[in-house]
Amino acid sequence: RPQRERKPDWIRVKAPTSAGFNETRRLMRDLNLNTVCEEAACPNIGECWTKKHATVMILGDVCTRACAFCNVKTGMPKAVDPLEPEHVAIAAAKMGLEHIVITSVDRDDLPDGGASQFVKVIEALRRNTPKTTIEILTPDFRNKADAAVEAIVAARPDVYNHNLETVPRLYPTIRPGARYYASLRLLESVKRHDPSIFTKSGVMLGLGEERMEVHQVMDDMRSAGIDFLTMGQYLQPTPKHTKVMDFVTPQAFDAYAAIARAKGFLLVASSPLTRSSYHAGDDFAKMRDA
Ligand code: SF4
Ligand code: SF4
Repeated sequence: RPQRERKPDWIRVKAPTSAGFNETRRLMRDLNLNTVCEEAACPNIGECWTKKHATVMILGDVCTRACAFCNVKTGMPKAVDPLEPEHVAIAAAKMGLEHIVITSVDRDDLPDGGASQFVKVIEALRRNTPKTTIEILTPDFRNKADAAVEAIVAARPDVYNHNLETVPRLYPTIRPGARYYASLRLLESVKRHDPSIFTKSGVMLGLGEERMEVHQVMDDMRSAGIDFLTMGQYLQPTPKHTKVMDFVTPQAFDAYAAIARAKGFLLVASSPLTRSSYHAGDDFAKMRDA
């Protein structure tokens, strides 16, 4: 398929220049916190940070994997920051967050894959901001997944998110360090341990996937009991990352959303600029209050 060089008109983003944006940035710097908004070069940063929505990325800013689509730095990570859980809680309190999304880099180097830091962050948030709903977006924890999921689920986040990212056929090139069915099983096991936790997953479109393959992923997700689905356009962060194969039209995103709702997802977000954490709090609150 031909590569479209120019971004279509529907990929429009606001320049990040508001007072809210600067405040969010200062707060993160002061507390020594990283965000996936910056590290993944998210196109929504102007909008989200103006509204003081940010997704904190714990366990450092260096990942032990190197996915073909991802802008996060790769290499040997630094030691885990013991102050991080309290700092996340302070940030949530200062920003007055009703809902917080916490993610992390992959830490295949740690004995527990970083699961205990997720637990500590959840505990610190519950202590300091008990009204804030907590969504965690975790790595696959590779061969440590069973113990990691058990520990994290026991800490009772409100939403457990883990992204499948793409269709299984494209895993070897796009997500080479991961296994499609291992990720599905991880989400299924969250539900098995605690059915009251909402599970969530997402895919990026525009990587060369076929429509029927996307429908199959939706079916696989529903079979694993996944409640929420996000779909967004893949954008190439730098020329050395994997190329965009297609720009999926907003109408095609709407069509996918309609199919996903028919398949029984409780929450569906599907548009070119949808990201895993985009409007996550607003959508969650709407669903819960419906
Ligand atoms: Fe950050 Fe998510 Fe908003 Fe992107 S969509 S800026 S990652 S909160
Ligand atoms: Fe990026 Fe996550 Fe892949 Fe690491 S595991 S390179 S943070 S997508």
